[in-house]
Amino acid sequence: MNAPAAPWQATILTLYPEMFPGPLGQSLSGRALAEGKWSLEARNIRDSATGKHRNVDDTPAGGGPGMVMRADIVAAAIDAATPPGDSRPRFLMSPRGRPLEQARVRDLAQGPGAIILCGRFEGVDERVIEGRGLEEVSIGDYVLSGGELGAMVMLDAVIRLLPGVMGAADSGTEESFEAGLLEYPHYTRPREWEGRSIPDVLLSGDHAAILRWRRREAERLTRERRPDLAAKAGLAD
Ligand code: SAH
Repeated sequence: MNAPAAPWQATILTLYPEMFPGPLGQSLSGRALAEGKWSLEARNIRDSATGKHRNVDDTPAGGGPGMVMRADIVAAAIDAATPPGDSRPRFLMSPRGRPLEQARVRDLAQGPGAIILCGRFEGVDERVIEGRGLEEVSIGDYVLSGGELGAMVMLDAVIRLLPGVMGAADSGTEESFEAGLLEYPHYTRPREWEGRSIPDVLLSGDHAAILRWRRREAERLTRERRPDLAAKAGLAD
């Protein structure tokens, strides 16, 4: 018999470990955490700081506003969190990073876990990004005050895809982005609500017709709302 798979392992490096699990302790991800389907370790970067004041940041070389997280302290925090042979990818949450996409999320869910560094202040010294091979990931084109919420977003997206976490075996394969399209509209009872009805085809019992309708609606919504995705999926205008 195969040994049970080791749980997907998340290590967060942050100045605010008490923020975790936060919302990830609720609902789907919270239940999965309690059931040991994934594990979470939030480590305080400040524990790797030395000196009387345990400073983790310093003023930017070259001048300018704000503070920068020090390469030596951050590297020590990463090293302390990484046992020999640990093959997990290492990330830095960063508005400069590659935008997080469902394909990358799916990839990650198939791996052993992730080590995620959460920036604060102006960000981190460039040398530690290079020196520790950090992959920069962005959750969107806006600036957060810290990487913690970004890390939670990334973890939430991954955890729901781990084996046994979502209820229906196939929910997750029909969703937005899975086929490069946005998802079709959903309806449930009541059949009539404020003068609006559920589209007849969904009540017809004709599964082929329902599939066609859903596909058409997914294509229509994607063209209207996300011409970039429509072009990638090869949909004509
Ligand atoms: N000066 C930086 C912004 C720093 S914001 C710049 O202009 O690029 C502080 C921290 O918040 C960052 O180090 C990063 O960890 C996190 N952060 C901010 N916006 C983010 C985003 N869109 N995606 C992921 N992390 C983000």
